[in-house]
Amino acid sequence: MAPPLHTRGSTDGITSPRLFKVLRLEEALGSHVPLDRVMVDLRSRSDVDRDALQGIGVPVILEEGNSDVSPLPRLHSLSNPAVVGAGDAIRVHPSGQVNVLYRRGANANTLFATEACNSRCLMCSQPPRDEDASWRVAEMLELLPLIDPTVPALGITGGEPTLLGEGLRLVLEAASALLPDTTFHVLTNGRTFASAPLVDSFDSVTGRALWAIPLYADNARDHDHIVQAGGAFAETIDGLYNLAERSHRIEVRFVLHRLTVGRLERFAEFIYRNMPFVEHVAFMGLEPMGYARMNRDLLWIDPLDYAPALGEAVRRLSQRRMRASIYNVQLCLLDGRSRPFARQSISDWKSASAPECANCAAIDSCCGFFRSAGPQWRSRGIQPLP
Ligand code: SF4
Repeated sequence: MAPPLHTRGSTDGITSPRLFKVLRLEEALGSHVPLDRVMVDLRSRSDVDRDALQGIGVPVILEEGNSDVSPLPRLHSLSNPAVVGAGDAIRVHPSGQVNVLYRRGANANTLFATEACNSRCLMCSQPPRDEDASWRVAEMLELLPLIDPTVPALGITGGEPTLLGEGLRLVLEAASALLPDTTFHVLTNGRTFASAPLVDSFDSVTGRALWAIPLYADNARDHDHIVQAGGAFAETIDGLYNLAERSHRIEVRFVLHRLTVGRLERFAEFIYRNMPFVEHVAFMGLEPMGYARMNRDLLWIDPLDYAPALGEAVRRLSQRRMRASIYNVQLCLLDGRSRPFARQSISDWKSASAPECANCAAIDSCCGFFRSAGPQWRSRGIQPLP
């Protein structure tokens, strides 16, 4: 189980919130990251001369305990040392609060763009709040040079990232320049893309951004109810076509719950008949957080009960040569024909396993469970696979 993304420590000489790239000394000296942005990880390195480090311009160090001998600003005595590893990018507050903003080697890394959103989806795992997110744009721009250029994919999420408008374009352009081999997976409801001029403003990142857009039904009535916004379906459809006309990469996301699963097969048909330009369709099990948790009685259905229709939907898309995946549904709930579509989709710091999994032959390929999912979110069909 991966450690969480937050911990606390003690600081000396750090007087304002700052972002650092944590590197061991050997890597720091040869890194493309400017030394003045590096926190040198000296945990278990009592042999290194701190005065000499100060002489070569190291601005801050990370130490295991309170050695009381350093002339350098430092972070030390982390309450959970496993949270911070070499290669990570962290935000350190003078109070000692530490947030990992990028974790080297994680199966998913995400930039959080804004808490604001123009929808109020019944199962939103991150309930929106109005905010001025301009500081987040500045922080993302500051963070990007600290991310390893080898990272294959980087998520951008919210809230609704396109509400940043020009700010999102700046972030994506900077990210494209700094991380030339990375795909940017932008989770957006697509409604603002009903405006063709807004889509035009993202011309410079065509092909680099993969726009991941949720569509919860093949009809306006159901989709607008789930989104809790009249006209949302029409706006999202217009947005999808505006993006496709300009050759953008598109993923469609369908969240699986009691209000959506009844039309799974018709939804698959709607996609392959009307949107053959979509490069990936993801069918996603619920994350029991935020509004989803509050609306459990409205939304919960045992995945075992929709698994046959889900299997039929992914196979229909696959037969039309459309790429389809199943996220967040455990392998033991799917039949043998559906399992090849299932992905290890839960971010490692959010994932957990159940006691039943200990003896399962599929434990290394199964998505497992959200850590936030208590017993009331577990299917009756969980059982170890032989
Ligand atoms: S028993 Fe656990 S590891 Fe095995 S398929 Fe089911 S949920 Fe996955």
